[in-house]
Amino acid sequence: MTHSPNEPILLSSSLHVDDARKAIAALVNDLLDESKAINNPADIEIVPLDQAINRILAVDLLSPIDVPAADNSAMDGFAFDGVCLDTKAPAVQLRVKGTALAGKPYEGSIDPGECLKIMTGALMPAGCNTVIPQEFTTAISDDVIEFKQDQLKLGENRRLRGEDLQKGKPAIAAGRLLRPSDLGLAASLGIASLQVKRKLKVAILSSGDELRSLGQALDAGSIYDSNRYSLTGLLNRLNLEIIDCGIVRDDPASLKQAFIEAARQADVLISSGGVSVGEADFTKQIMQELGDVGFWKIAMRPGRPMAFGILKPVAGKSPARKTLFFGLPGNPVAVMVTFYQFVRSALLQLNGANQTEPPLTQAIAEAPIRKKPGRTEFQRAILGRGPDGKPMVRLTGSQGAGILRSMSEANCFVILGHEQGNVAAGDWVDIALFDGLL
Ligand code: AMP
Ligand code: MG
Repeated sequence: MTHSPNEPILLSSSLHVDDARKAIAALVNDLLDESKAINNPADIEIVPLDQAINRILAVDLLSPIDVPAADNSAMDGFAFDGVCLDTKAPAVQLRVKGTALAGKPYEGSIDPGECLKIMTGALMPAGCNTVIPQEFTTAISDDVIEFKQDQLKLGENRRLRGEDLQKGKPAIAAGRLLRPSDLGLAASLGIASLQVKRKLKVAILSSGDELRSLGQALDAGSIYDSNRYSLTGLLNRLNLEIIDCGIVRDDPASLKQAFIEAARQADVLISSGGVSVGEADFTKQIMQELGDVGFWKIAMRPGRPMAFGILKPVAGKSPARKTLFFGLPGNPVAVMVTFYQFVRSALLQLNGANQTEPPLTQAIAEAPIRKKPGRTEFQRAILGRGPDGKPMVRLTGSQGAGILRSMSEANCFVILGHEQGNVAAGDWVDIALFDGLL
């Protein structure tokens, strides 16, 4: 490993979000190099198309056919040889020789002066290379149509064989996080199953003496373990295998045991709680024995404290691989923000995805937002439309790191960059939507 999370830059008192992201990406890259995980045949699975959604394509999907397989019409209209369009005459008249439907090709050929009534998707007959859309034509008699020459050029409204995809060329590149359109595309090529990366095994555990599982009684000072469920929900979006390691008490022996057990089973361990100033020393000690983990103070809000690094291969783990470790802060909103900002892209990268960043867009702030330069903030907000129809965003009430309702009511983050100061009403701000459409 060339990049240790404990290198000096990471010990700075407050780490820029971008530097934290770079350090994570570099470490994941090192892990991939070590294990050759991307190209390891053992890490590939073949799944039927209907189960491939949100999986990551492991090898380029080569098209077994040309798409379209033959020249065909892009419009309902009349197919003819467009060579005749070179003449100076303002209008052209053609005799309609027959009809071609999608799935019912016309067997004969079309000579100069003739045309074929043709439907969208129907094969272009021999002798034809151009289609005049129906609406541009007038019927002169039962079997003669006329249209103006200047309405089209030779070759228009025809889809060429292989125009969409060529046989033997990649239809979908390796590393694609498979979306509905990719499944449709594979099906259109007659491909029924795909080679995808195996599901990452991700262990989660919640640490804290105050935590109770659902169904348990709440005694004084205790709270329900909500992070387990928000994390499970976040991970489920990525179609992973989740290993739930439950609640671990704030006690060195139990914590160490839980980490070892999780590392034995998982590629990645995500814990929440136990990394804030008051508790970090205690967790640090354990981590020194188990691996190479940095304890970061990130210049962000929410989510300032975070631990990140690797755990050494645990005895009995097969294959003997390291485990990537994220020690997220305990606060319920901070867990989700740090997951979004750091964990999600690392998981995608680790699993060979070629695009790991969620898209950003912009909207107008409805009201002023207070912001101190020197940290990145992730405020929870609702994106809608302003009176003028422009995208407008407003914050969801109190933004405390423990106030999960601010997250639950929101549909996006307003992301205020490191250098940014106060935002005035009417300013454009960066936003990241919680839900993608497709
Ligand atoms: P910590 O990072 O352990 O200091 O926790 C910070 C805050 O988050 C404390 O108020 C904890 O009670 C709370 N917290 C920690 N873990 C969880 C959890 N799994 N579910 C809900 N709240 C939690
Ligand atoms: Mg705690």
